[in-house]
Amino acid sequence: MLQTTLCYIRQEDCCLMLHRVKKKNDINHDKWIGIGGKFEPRESPEDCLLREVQEETGLHLTRWRYRGIVTFLSGDDEEQMHLYTADRFEGTLKDCDEGDLQWVPMSRLYDLTLWEGDRIFLRLLQREEPFFSLKLVYEGDRLTEAVLNGTALPADWELPPVRQDKEPLLISACLLGTACRYDGQSCAKVDAALLRQKYELIPICPEQLGGLPTPRPPAERQGDRVRTRQGQDVTKAYETGAEEALRLARIMGCRKALLKEKSPSCGRGFVYDGTFTGTLTAGDGVTAALLKQEGLLVFGESQWEALLK
Ligand code: SF4
Repeated sequence: MLQTTLCYIRQEDCCLMLHRVKKKNDINHDKWIGIGGKFEPRESPEDCLLREVQEETGLHLTRWRYRGIVTFLSGDDEEQMHLYTADRFEGTLKDCDEGDLQWVPMSRLYDLTLWEGDRIFLRLLQREEPFFSLKLVYEGDRLTEAVLNGTALPADWELPPVRQDKEPLLISACLLGTACRYDGQSCAKVDAALLRQKYELIPICPEQLGGLPTPRPPAERQGDRVRTRQGQDVTKAYETGAEEALRLARIMGCRKALLKEKSPSCGRGFVYDGTFTGTLTAGDGVTAALLKQEGLLVFGESQWEALLK
């Protein structure tokens, strides 16, 4: 069976797509596809991924994720495609001899001329589906069967598209008035109605997402750990909450987050210093740090009006 890779490279809210218009007798002629190609002898999927991306785009990937395997059947042809997404790279985009490369806004992706099956796995990627196996059977250009993780998909199967009419904004739930703080209180400090005019608000409370109860003992960052005043190490719950918040941000397509300042989870720029004396120190909460590391623009609540401009 032919082995190939395909990668969707993201930059901000765009995806690098290849419009296949240059090669003669190309089965993909006029289609928009991701970046990839066939394995060469003795290559692993990652070897092939990095080589193909370098050859077709001039870019060197520095961070990628292996997202699934797609098995294509069409007549006597069989192909197994290893599917990746990437969001960090080095280098400058160059011309590709197989087609035209373009950064396409995610909101326009499904307007392109795509293979039917590509629409399925693009939705799965966009919805952060865990590693999946997708079998796609074609007769010519027509998709006749799609099987996801061993279960046949109905002909009219479609995941709901991510809403694109308003930009999604991840926001600390306590800022919206949810009583999720450690002391069972909220701290509504933003005008939710004004923010909603521009954004689809996605409320999160990372500490609750990490499995902590409300109310709960106050905690502060102490280096790379988070501990309560009594010395209980609650780092794991804070890390789990941060990962869940990131997962939601990815599913909802958030590029920005508006978070509660000074919190050991949501704090941005300054957090309490771990002495439980009300002293601030430079640093981020666990969730704010992870979201920043993953490329989101993180705002503190005192900056909320800047988000309206
Ligand atoms: S974890 Fe964040 S959202 Fe939850 S109460 Fe603390 S500051 Fe608010």
